[in-house]
Amino acid sequence: MSTPRRLLARLRNLMAHRDAQSGAGDLLALARLVAAELVSEVCSVYVLRGGDSLELAATEGLRPESVGRTRLRVGEGLVGLAAASGETLNLPDAQNHPAFAYRPETGEDSFASLLAVPVRRAGRLLGVLVVQNRAPRRYDAEEVDVVETVAMLLAELLAATQPERNDSGLAAALSRRFAASSLAPGIAIGPVILPSTGRVPQRLLADDPDRELQRVEQAWEQMQRGIDQLISDQLPATQGKKAADAAASREILDAYRLVAGDAGWLKRVNEAIRSGLSAEAAVSRVAGELRDRMRRITDPYLRERLADLEDMAGRLLDHLSGGAPQEVVVAGSILLVRRLGPAELLDWHARGIGGVAIEEGSASGHAAILARALGIAAIGSARGVLEYANPGDEAVIDADEGQIFLRPALELKQGYISAIAARSARQAGWASLRDKPAMTGDGTRIQLMLNIGLAMELGQLATTGADGIGLFRTEIAMLARGAVVDTPEQSAVYTRVFDDAGEKPVTFRTLDLGGDKLLPGSPTPEEENPAMGWRSLRIGLDRPALLRRQLRALLLAAAGRPLSVMFPMVATVAEFRAAKGLLLAEAARVRPAPSVLRVGTMLEIPSLMWQLPSLLKEADFISVGTNDLMQFLFAADRGTPQLANRYDVISPAVLDLLGQLHEQASAAGVDVSICGEAASRPLEAIAFAGLGYTCLSMPASSILPIKAMLSDLDLTKFRPYLSSLRRTSGGSASLREPIAAWAREHGVRF
Ligand code: PEP
Ligand code: MG
Repeated sequence: MSTPRRLLARLRNLMAHRDAQSGAGDLLALARLVAAELVSEVCSVYVLRGGDSLELAATEGLRPESVGRTRLRVGEGLVGLAAASGETLNLPDAQNHPAFAYRPETGEDSFASLLAVPVRRAGRLLGVLVVQNRAPRRYDAEEVDVVETVAMLLAELLAATQPERNDSGLAAALSRRFAASSLAPGIAIGPVILPSTGRVPQRLLADDPDRELQRVEQAWEQMQRGIDQLISDQLPATQGKKAADAAASREILDAYRLVAGDAGWLKRVNEAIRSGLSAEAAVSRVAGELRDRMRRITDPYLRERLADLEDMAGRLLDHLSGGAPQEVVVAGSILLVRRLGPAELLDWHARGIGGVAIEEGSASGHAAILARALGIAAIGSARGVLEYANPGDEAVIDADEGQIFLRPALELKQGYISAIAARSARQAGWASLRDKPAMTGDGTRIQLMLNIGLAMELGQLATTGADGIGLFRTEIAMLARGAVVDTPEQSAVYTRVFDDAGEKPVTFRTLDLGGDKLLPGSPTPEEENPAMGWRSLRIGLDRPALLRRQLRALLLAAAGRPLSVMFPMVATVAEFRAAKGLLLAEAARVRPAPSVLRVGTMLEIPSLMWQLPSLLKEADFISVGTNDLMQFLFAADRGTPQLANRYDVISPAVLDLLGQLHEQASAAGVDVSICGEAASRPLEAIAFAGLGYTCLSMPASSILPIKAMLSDLDLTKFRPYLSSLRRTSGGSASLREPIAAWAREHGVRF
């Protein structure tokens, strides 16, 4: 019998005959078994006491008198470090580790190697299991696996003797605000739901591995059917829109499936079952490993894929236990979670939540994309909120400003209730503007276009009355699918876009991958500054086959209709020329040729500003990407929260740049527009219109508010004001306040 199976069989015996009154005796027996099986001199169990102290509760090999006396704070010493980081420590030379804290009473100075595994249950820390040996050595993968599995069993023993965490006292009653990032706009007020952070298997060990393998297989099939059902029930019902929804479901489902298929985690579940675990325990074990891997991954896209997997593991556990217990959800409730997969969000949406805070959510994640499509207010990276919230607490999510309030003061809550009422009144007013062209109060026509990237968003053309699609981010569909698909499949996506857009113009941007937009499986770049690294068009020009495949797909999809293609991250006219050359070469081979072929560039790297005379001779249009332009102009990473509002688009430097660009492009007869997020903000839009921009592209949620705001704006009055403000405000970091004051004075509702 292999070590893990024999050890697990002995532990099963121990647990079956344990004496509920003598917890300490069980722990000692467990420590002895582990030490004997692993041929280790020491095995110790440290138990969390009072929330932050780890007490030596049982040991085989350290001095018995230190039991109950030796204590380390979480974060102190190697045991504390394993507890604080939540990660297994495997050290051949523990005493020379900088975190080593010597406790003379234990006599542990004679042991060189150490393996410390945090003991957790349902995401909660309960203690640390430690193995030590005299000889310096690194424990091998099988030993680590065994100790981690024992830690899972130990968690059951400890949980039986410890009360559940429940914040009490003053901290649980105080009102608190947490800053967050916005994932999907909106405001939601309601009671907090804190779903249990992990389903805890009831039965950990099993005698009959074949039976368990069969159970997992069955549950897996049921889960697949359940996901299909969920997506087909939920998306169309919530959006009420035909083909685009079916396409969206496919995109999300494909990506979700792809993750399950390629990670090979079912194989690992099967291996864990063969070592003696029950199906439930094996799935939990593999999900736990995933959670640990997730902690180490910084790439936001990969983290999202792992969140998908965690979602699946949870679902699988539900099927194994014969269905998830369904708590009753008050409509409009606010869900607080650490991570959330897309299928889970659909589940919660069906149950009526109004908002969600995803502690580790990113704007490019599936859950965020779906939340936007479903109209659920969503925020991400609200650090600490999970620790301070109790189920049923009242909360306000303000996803527009990126914040959440727990147990809000009455006045604050009233303020938000009025804001919601005012918003719905405003929305009713905005709806009446949908079919009217966007015009300033004094009659200048402004084109308001959509920024989208998924077929599911195409319906927004009709719901917002936008003039067209100013930015179709082609990489988003690829990110949702998890791979760059081949020409026919790409072409099918673009054909849907053309078909749904009908007469309205669409500008397709070629793949803008790299930086923070990485495909799963693509090697993590070893660049110090990936945003300024080998990304986007740079990859396209160095790997022309990839770019040509995409250009060909676009030309095929156009099928004789007008086609506008735009290149991202262009730094030199030579790059633009090379990319355009590839497009024209493909265009010469595709029939029918587009009735009109327009080739443009994004302006997001400042260097282009000093090449305008030649660029304007070669580009048919320019679209300013303020997101990247701001990051490169001010050397301020767009993903660093501390820099989020440090530099203002409405500042003399940026307005001068945009003013000069507009002037020169207009003189050359080249169309110029703005498609970065700044165009979606009312005050910025006022400033851009004041500079002469008549085409702005933005997310769907901003089209009607910006249209309404523009209808209040008298440009003939605002232009001279803006000019004089720019002349007299050299040296200011921002012109936001004076422009806001002007807007208020002149009745512009922004
Ligand atoms: C931009 O940089 O402003 C832009 C529109 O592109 P993305 O946000 O996709 O980089
Ligand atoms: Mg960009």
